[in-house]
Amino acid sequence: MKVLVVSGGVISGLGKGITTSSLGRLLKARGLPVTIVKIDPYLNVDAGTMNPYQHGEVFVLDDGTEADLDLGNYERFLGQSLSGSHNLTTGKIYRAVIEKERRGDYLGNTVQIIPHVTGEIKRTIREVAEAAGAEVVLVEVGGTVGDIESMPFLEALRELSYELGEGHTAFVHTTLVPVVGPVGEAKTKPTQHSVRELRAIGIRPNLIIARGPTPLTPDIKAKISLFCDVPPEAVISVPDQATIYEVPLVLEAQGVGPLLGRLLRLPEREPDYQAWKEFLATYRGAQRAVEIAVVGKYTELKDAYLSHAEAFHHCQGHLGVEVRLQWYDSEDLARNPGLLGRVERSDGILVPGGFGARGVDGKIRAIEVARRARIPYLGVCYGFQMAAVEFARDVLGLGRASSTEIDPATPEPVVSLLEEQKGLSDLGGTMRLGAQRVLLRPGSRLAGLYGQAEVWERHRHRYEIDPRYTERFAAHGLTVSGTAVDGRIEAVELADHPFFVGVQFHPEFLSRPESPHPLYLALVRAAVARQEVPSRAAPAPAVA
Ligand code: GLN
Repeated sequence: MKVLVVSGGVISGLGKGITTSSLGRLLKARGLPVTIVKIDPYLNVDAGTMNPYQHGEVFVLDDGTEADLDLGNYERFLGQSLSGSHNLTTGKIYRAVIEKERRGDYLGNTVQIIPHVTGEIKRTIREVAEAAGAEVVLVEVGGTVGDIESMPFLEALRELSYELGEGHTAFVHTTLVPVVGPVGEAKTKPTQHSVRELRAIGIRPNLIIARGPTPLTPDIKAKISLFCDVPPEAVISVPDQATIYEVPLVLEAQGVGPLLGRLLRLPEREPDYQAWKEFLATYRGAQRAVEIAVVGKYTELKDAYLSHAEAFHHCQGHLGVEVRLQWYDSEDLARNPGLLGRVERSDGILVPGGFGARGVDGKIRAIEVARRARIPYLGVCYGFQMAAVEFARDVLGLGRASSTEIDPATPEPVVSLLEEQKGLSDLGGTMRLGAQRVLLRPGSRLAGLYGQAEVWERHRHRYEIDPRYTERFAAHGLTVSGTAVDGRIEAVELADHPFFVGVQFHPEFLSRPESPHPLYLALVRAAVARQEVPSRAAPAPAVA
């Protein structure tokens, strides 16, 4: 087993996840079996109970794990599905150690951070690498070096590197090189400090990845090399890119592939980037643009809807159409009718998942606009449930129709709690989660888009559309196009509409640069088609 550790310094939010994903891609492009583990040093057992404003989107894996959003980046860059064991948290590790202690596994011993917690960390990493059959396991340590919380993890990785011996581990440190002052001077001091911090705990980085707005000049690279004790060719500059999918090639151009090969004593191989490069060429060459309105509650923080945004980037790389996302706060939308007018002028509308009553009115209004003005619409999870509520109110005339999540006393519970959710008291990890089989109705638009009779899609919800309403829905044109094996409703579509689809599941989690999700492709295609309707104003000129 070879281990490539990626740590971060100076500040968080440097794109360490993208760096790690890109390094993984570099190795995978050489035909090596790789996998990635994310360490999140917080005490939560998983990300499922965290507000998106705290930590960005909660990414859902096939096995139902509610994971850090970096797992999504890994899956997209590697083109591989991962399981929950690839997201290590302090909560998970401590829970395992305490359970062992109670069982008596450490009988007679004082249970300590070193060796018990570090031992558990090392054991888990080895186990994950083995289960994945990976030759190289990349381990990204969340947070920044120097945080109290990440200490046991870095110590465990230092120990692991010692145990595995020469040529089996490499340490990559990602830092910020800010450009400051009137002449735009690149500053290396923060990097020097954070490398010193790393060395104080016994880790010497082999590679420094410097993030910043502009490329590093050779003299800045030389300075970092001198102060941080790495060869100049191991100081890698990754300036901001137009798309994150450029990063593997930016690294490749600076010789990172062969460098990792030497550090980890890997066989020399030519990388294969053919499909990746085709994607990028189409992406860069976009000649036209569509505008998609995204109506949600966490629009201040784009990371809250990261996988949706990425799914649209994947479409751009296949259709050559730039997708400009316009973010609308659903609460603003309910208050400000002028904003609704802007939504009505967009080429497509997406209402993503969400929870609770706040902001629901704005979502329902946006859906009404999409339905009535025949704007292409994709409703995901809450956006699917709210489409049913909107339809019940406006078309079936059930003015008080709602979801019991919003109005527990509604006389028309179009959406209500899943049977198995009733009586649950623990809220962590107890939703209907992960990959579930969805049977598509033959002849439906959905079945046509997938080109398949059944699919597996990832879920995360507690509520569902009540099947008692589906007949009335269908009589007015909103038909069920997908169901679970037990008959629960997974998807609806509007017959007399250019594109109006709602799905209980989360297609955004399965879209990848090399295989964009059919539902996003369909939404973007419908948005393009809408621009061609002669009554509509000419589209804004595209920027490549
Ligand atoms: N709040 C809804 C439910 O629990 C939708 C969840 C979601 O959008 N992820 O069913």
